[in-house]
Amino acid sequence: MSEANRKAKPSVNEVNIIKKDYGIVGSGVGMTNNVAEYSAAINAIEWLREQGLTGEKVTLLSDSQLLIFQLQKRYAVQSDRLRLLYDQLIENLKAFRKISFRWIPREQNYEADALSREAYQQTQNERRKERGEELVKDVVKIEDNLFKIKGKEYVINLYDNSCTCPDFVKRRRRCKHLWAVLFATEAKYEA
Ligand SMILES: [Zn+2]
Repeated sequence: MSEANRKAKPSVNEVNIIKKDYGIVGSGVGMTNNVAEYSAAINAIEWLREQGLTGEKVTLLSDSQLLIFQLQKRYAVQSDRLRLLYDQLIENLKAFRKISFRWIPREQNYEADALSREAYQQTQNERRKERGEELVKDVVKIEDNLFKIKGKEYVINLYDNSCTCPDFVKRRRRCKHLWAVLFATEAKYEA
């Protein structure tokens, strides 16, 4: 994850956030942290270009040592896949008047860390929701506001929006059973 800033050598905590973004770049075979770091940097730089900020001094900060050291030419780019992304990033950077790169230790990169956790939580939540939809047909009413899922011993309680399954008990977030009951009773949403 990367952030750009107009000030020269800001301390990380002084960084003035002009744009926050996060997302899941991809998944599956061939997807690596390094690909994600490069993609995040490319997105950030493209965004700055679109804002017409190419005349500004930009510092690219990242907690990815590989990304920063490759941009600083301290590390060689060896993988073909990263080479493509590296070239794309360099091409984008040419538009800027002055650009520098700075590696920051992960512990200092709270902002990016929090954003990547948020993105992860959101995809997890989307998955639970999808599974919940598949379970709608198995929802069984026990009594008012109390439900079960056919074949499971869990009790879903709509009085306090809880479920007795381990997923809910551990995380206190809406599980697939709760989603299923909410969909089944049409009392959905307010995620
Ligand atoms: Zn549950």
